[in-house]
Amino acid sequence: MSDPFPGFSGISMIDEGGGAESAAVPRPAEPSGPPGAGSGPVEAKVVIVGSGPAGLTAAVYAARANLAPIVLAGYVPGGQLMITSDVENYPGFPEGIQGPELMARFREQAERFGARIVDLDTDRVDLSARPFGLWAGGVEYRAQALIVATGASALWLGLESETRLRGRGVSACATCDGFFFRGKRVAVVGGGDTALEEALFLTRFATEVVLIHRRDQFRGSKIMQERALAHPSIRVRWNQEVTAVRGDEVVSGLELRDVGTGERSEEPVDGLFVAIGYKPNTDAFRDWLELDEKGYLVVQGETGSRVEGVFIAGDVHDHRYRQAVTAAGDGCKAAIDAERWLESVGLAESVTATAW
Ligand code: NDP
Repeated sequence: MSDPFPGFSGISMIDEGGGAESAAVPRPAEPSGPPGAGSGPVEAKVVIVGSGPAGLTAAVYAARANLAPIVLAGYVPGGQLMITSDVENYPGFPEGIQGPELMARFREQAERFGARIVDLDTDRVDLSARPFGLWAGGVEYRAQALIVATGASALWLGLESETRLRGRGVSACATCDGFFFRGKRVAVVGGGDTALEEALFLTRFATEVVLIHRRDQFRGSKIMQERALAHPSIRVRWNQEVTAVRGDEVVSGLELRDVGTGERSEEPVDGLFVAIGYKPNTDAFRDWLELDEKGYLVVQGETGSRVEGVFIAGDVHDHRYRQAVTAAGDGCKAAIDAERWLESVGLAESVTATAW
């Protein structure tokens, strides 16, 4: 059959920013080829992996310290803000700003100071010795210092029907895919700020948003709860778990089970937005760096890791704050720590405080 939702991302990885490619991220005029590709490994004093607020802030600071950082940004760069609509809590934007526009500004600022940004995923790393090895798009990068800022990705319910219908009505990104549900009914699963935010955003398009939560109270912030509960287009179904997504070729409804009584019911909807949290993106690093029990990277001191010369910033280690502004602050700290460490091992010249 023909694609029922042309352009529908059904995004699977928050950091991939699916559907976000059309967003206003400035890209290099040429295909973003790796600097020096084709002439052996690319050497850099600092390589930054990840291009959300943490990675790009690290890039601004490292570039301004004359470290000519390379940012391995990911195939679809920009991090979680690429799939966030209104950002109302990033300081300096009293009227709010769209997530993709904010990230476009971060990127422009990093590039202005000489950061080289490569829009490719990092496939593999070798942190056994310095310079560290990183491979992206078939090119080897060698870094004296490394900043890991790979963020976190959306979690899924884990249902077969959810996977089968991903991109056919099942999504984890209202900002990317909400548009496809103009005049339709949709469901959002989850009870945290992400679910509340997605539900509110979807009211711009959908006639009704059914918010499905497995408990009888939300986890999200008070202000978001109040907004969602007061919205006339949002209906909450408490104590419900989704047991299956209905539909052969596109979503036609959900099967639900009351977690208290076991009673089963159905909810006819055209779309399902899964907003149940995140998983840190550590795959390339798990053999080298320490992970905590939730799978987040463990930081030593402020931004260090168990490997000397490897620094960590943002949501890949932070499951407490997870804010753009805290990630940006982390990126700043990691870049300063990397620069000071490079200086201490004789690989960078001393930079005065005002140079930052
Ligand atoms: P949270 O971990 O806060 O919430 C996840 C929600 O999904 C919980 O309500 C949880 O239920 C539910 N859930 C988890 N697993 C399942 C499952 N398998 N089936 C059904 N439901 C499930 O994640 P969020 O993504 O909402 O938020 C993460 C962090 O980011 C938070 O600190 C939040 O405040 C922040 N955030 C801030 C925003 C802002 O400031 N604008 C916007 C978005 C997020 P239960 O409650 O029962 O555990």
